[in-house]
Amino acid sequence: MSISLAPNPATTPAPLPLELSAAAGGHRQPALPTPLRRVPRWWRDFSGALLWGLLLFVTALWVAGGGLASVGSVGGFLTTFGRLTGLISSALLLVQVFLMARIPLIEQAWGQDRLVRSHRLVGFTSFTLMLAHVVLITLGYAATTPLGLWGTIVDFTLNYPGMLLAIAGTLALCMVVVTSIRRARARLRYESWHLIHLYGYLGAGLALPHQLWTGADFLSSTVSTVFWWTLYGSALSAVLVYRVALPLLVSRHTRLRVVDVRAEAPDVTTVTVGGRGINELGAQAGQFFNWRFLDGPGWTRANPYSLSAAPTDDTLRITVKHLGDGSSRLAGLPVGTKVLVEGPYGRMHAGVRTRPKVLLMGAGIGITPMRALLEAMPQGSGDVTVLHRISRRADLVLADEIDQLAAERGARYVIVDGHRVPGRATWLPAQAAHLTDVEGLLQVVPDVVDREVYICGAAGWMAAAEAAVKGAGVPAAAIHIEHFAY
Ligand SMILES: Cc1cc2nc3c(=O)[nH]c(=O)nc-3n(C[C@H](O)[C@H](O)[C@H](O)COP(=O)(O)OP(=O)(O)OC[C@H]3O[C@@H](n4cnc5c(N)ncnc54)[C@H](O)[C@@H]3O)c2cc1C
Repeated sequence: MSISLAPNPATTPAPLPLELSAAAGGHRQPALPTPLRRVPRWWRDFSGALLWGLLLFVTALWVAGGGLASVGSVGGFLTTFGRLTGLISSALLLVQVFLMARIPLIEQAWGQDRLVRSHRLVGFTSFTLMLAHVVLITLGYAATTPLGLWGTIVDFTLNYPGMLLAIAGTLALCMVVVTSIRRARARLRYESWHLIHLYGYLGAGLALPHQLWTGADFLSSTVSTVFWWTLYGSALSAVLVYRVALPLLVSRHTRLRVVDVRAEAPDVTTVTVGGRGINELGAQAGQFFNWRFLDGPGWTRANPYSLSAAPTDDTLRITVKHLGDGSSRLAGLPVGTKVLVEGPYGRMHAGVRTRPKVLLMGAGIGITPMRALLEAMPQGSGDVTVLHRISRRADLVLADEIDQLAAERGARYVIVDGHRVPGRATWLPAQAAHLTDVEGLLQVVPDVVDREVYICGAAGWMAAAEAAVKGAGVPAAAIHIEHFAY
């Protein structure tokens, strides 16, 4: 069923008139293209417990290494807490690496959105603790030697092994942190920011030698040494395995190539790639891959795109809005172009669903994963509603396909079109500005409180949509979101 919101008189808070434009079918959906993979709930608890266990263990090693014994003097107090902050900072630095290594258990438990936010929080915490470590250790040593503050700094730099490398590592991390502050980040091109961000690995690597050669806690016991080596080794292995080796093996095995390129609109292209054993990737509708199209210069940069159709045994499909060089290039991709992929990633799929009824909310190009979810989601007639928010009819992509799928599956398809409300962060269009966000939502989907909700679109719209869904009483655990930007 396709429904559109018509303009409403601005003064009357009456229900929005709904205008039916297509009939609903009453059929059950055909067999799923890929088997549904559920995400075990214990993955979240387990990975969360691992993080806290790690921090507790590091603290226990510090205590066992005499961390509390030296708090009696000012110098001892400063130095021992300087050691603790340094240890926790190092552990969190490696946690950062694990969070972004795309380890399936962690990635599927939390989803990219949560991981990116946690990565930011953990990163800033680790950096702050690292600065505290530098200050506390320097003041602590200065308090116990006749060299004074500047003499201690010079002594550290010249006479302590690995310290120059650590300083270089600290500078690399400073660069990463400064460019990750939102205002600075907004001024940088994605490529420049991403390149600078990779210096984080360098920073972590350069900090290692000073821990090995001078870090009392690193060397205090065999347990400690084995623990830190294992942690560094595991972080490095996770990156090499999950971000390098596995994607290369997958791409080599599937031998993906472009099989079709279709213009959906002047600025939107659908690309279908084919290969062998695609079902072995375990991709679910709603997930995304990082894509590299080997059609010439620029292929080294991967762009994330969600599947816009349920994956089949031998095809994957994406629908892409032309934003910059990378996405615009896709319109001219020759059929037969080789493709490398990393993935599948993302938690916005049917395997996380806990309720029979579902609301799929997509705005603009954010409708792509919703179209795939509608296609693949096990459902009875009336279980699924698709809410498609657009500013202008010209932005309506995939609508015919969604309409047809909705008719086949007995789903409702609601198109909410109209320009934004100036000066108000809302998911509603201007003609519904007299309503609150929750009122508008309840008019379109009166039983939203009983539904599992998936949301994708521009960041501001998503925030307003999520707030409305929560305001209507849907618990956070039943809401799944995917941002199209980092
Ligand atoms: C999980 C996810 C799924 C996505 N799915 C789709 C989709 O199905 N269809 C679609 O049209 N778009 C999708 N996007 C957005 C798409 O990745 C960007 O529009 C595209 O990468 C822009 O690249 P560009 O070189 O054309 O533009 P640029 O001008 O280089 O970038 C424009 C903006 O896109 C974002 N971006 C660029 N490159 C990346 C990158 N490698 N990783 C993350 N963000 C980036 C940045 O916010 C940047 O400011 C998705 C994004 C994410 C994070």
